Amino acid sequence: MDRKLKGLDLPSLEILKYPDPRLREVCTPVKAFDQNLRALAERMLELMFAAKGVGLAAPQVGVSICLFVSSPTFEPQDRRIYVNPRILRSDGEQEGEEGCLSFPGIACNIKRHNIVAIEALNPDGERFEETSEGLAARIFQHELDHLDGRLLVDRMGSVARLSNRRMLKELEERFNMV
Ligand code: ZN
Repeated sequence: MDRKLKGLDLPSLEILKYPDPRLREVCTPVKAFDQNLRALAERMLELMFAAKGVGLAAPQVGVSICLFVSSPTFEPQDRRIYVNPRILRSDGEQEGEEGCLSFPGIACNIKRHNIVAIEALNPDGERFEETSEGLAARIFQHELDHLDGRLLVDRMGSVARLSNRRMLKELEERFNMV
């Protein structure tokens, strides 16, 4: 079992909100492909759907391992699990509105590559490749950022930062009260 999964109480996991410092941790690659990994991924999917999100990375539930889940269509049958993902190729550019379950109430325009090919492992440790475009490519890049401890706020331009200033401050104040 991965050391970071030891003693993890899955039912009590919740989505961490900015500026929780655990969101800034750089994730370590997964080495143990066992039932604990799959159970964590399934719990993350549950939390993601409940929060009406299309992607969720393990550090967002306080587990700093290279794992994210998604469903670009928000349909349960399109749920996917990506372990140790890596970008192989990227191309083009898109700019669009992006949000994050760790930044409730915030949406801002962010530039991303339009096409992204990644390789990853499934929870059984089998390698696969996937090429995506548009929103699905945006999700890849957003979730990969999380695995490096990089957040939406780091990608915001000065205009987006200014227009979201109040919400960011509110999140910071809310966090400091807990
Ligand atoms: Zn996010």
